[in-house]
Amino acid sequence: MFKTFLIKYGEIGIKGKNRHLFEAALVNQIRQALDSVEGEFQVYREQGRIYIDVEGFYDFEETVEALQRVFGIVGICPVMKVEDRGLEELGNDVIEYLSNTYDMKNQTFKIDTRRARKSYPVESMEVNRCLGGRVLDAFPGVSVDVHNPELMIHVEIREKIYIYSKIIPGPGGMPVGTNGKAMLLLSGGIDSPVAGYMIAKRGVALDATYFHAPPYTSERAKQKVVDLAKLVARYSGPINLHVVNFTDIQLYIYDKCPHDELTIIMRRYMMKIAEHFAGETRSLALVTGESIGQVASQTMQSLAATNEVCEIPVFRPLIGFDKQDIVDIAEKIGTYETSILPFEDCCTIFVAKHPVTKPNLNAIKRSEKKLEERIDELVRTAIETTEVIRVE
Ligand code: ATP
Ligand code: MG
Repeated sequence: MFKTFLIKYGEIGIKGKNRHLFEAALVNQIRQALDSVEGEFQVYREQGRIYIDVEGFYDFEETVEALQRVFGIVGICPVMKVEDRGLEELGNDVIEYLSNTYDMKNQTFKIDTRRARKSYPVESMEVNRCLGGRVLDAFPGVSVDVHNPELMIHVEIREKIYIYSKIIPGPGGMPVGTNGKAMLLLSGGIDSPVAGYMIAKRGVALDATYFHAPPYTSERAKQKVVDLAKLVARYSGPINLHVVNFTDIQLYIYDKCPHDELTIIMRRYMMKIAEHFAGETRSLALVTGESIGQVASQTMQSLAATNEVCEIPVFRPLIGFDKQDIVDIAEKIGTYETSILPFEDCCTIFVAKHPVTKPNLNAIKRSEKKLEERIDELVRTAIETTEVIRVE
């Protein structure tokens, strides 16, 4: 029924040149999101507004859901767009809009006119009064409430006139592409997809790295990570997923180093390799799903020891979150069901019964000395044999 949407976006801090970049990125992201939705959509900017026109058949719910995954959108307003044919006709249009949109009984309402086209011959207050009177006449039982109306009926007078009252909430955030790119360490767990979502929400595009350990981890475990990347990509746009074969490095560490330090040392090599791919893909930071104290490898000491190998910033958007908070977001964004599928993770297979919880950096470095003979070559091979999967 609605042939036009008005897109509301946050405007704080986007002045001057930034505003133009923000809007261009937002239009771009909206187009991408609607690509996979059936229907002919025209997305355009006009006088500091973003509109979407639809031709022919489309699925309203599906369209709104796709838009609710576009960061930067604060509100999605289905609007009735009409030609300016005078105030009398505008009254008819408002009445038609209300009968089509609501079951009009005894609601309270307010007309809120914005006269963006200053040459319009009637002042906003007068338009409000006139349209308000028409609505009162048309629907017995309704009444005006200027302070707390149930229906706030917006009438925007521009070249055309836009009538709307529903503002469906968008996800907020910044359009992806306005804040560079980061490299997400994506595992098959609950946390890292959520971490990726949160960084993408700030306008950051993503690539990802997954450490795979065949035959200890199966093809299905890898497929699960590809599936998770797809779910994150619904928000972040395309992700180049780097699948690193980590088996030989893990076995070598297992062979040479104390088993209680295994996880920390392994994680240090993961960070190094992910940082290498960050450099190759012009990602400016790493992103992980770590949260203080969640497991032995995420104590303050462990985080410091893992962080020490990295030169670029490491963002941990979940650092202060309880597990339940993370689960709530995972459910909201639709990754939870996939994350809890029971496939083995490369970290769990080699973990010691009693991993160190307060690793001493000097001790770790001493243990790593025992890897000197072959580790560089193994890291090089892991990098060279990495498979890159483009996930859209
Ligand atoms: P997640 O639920 O994200 O797997 P987790 O609670 O299982 O996290 P860890 O296994 O300690 O925690 O991993 C901490 C972080 O390290 C993960 O959030 C992820 O960013 C990264 N990570 C762990 N394992 C892998 C892996 N196999 N490939 C890529 N990144 C990984
Ligand atoms: Mg994990």
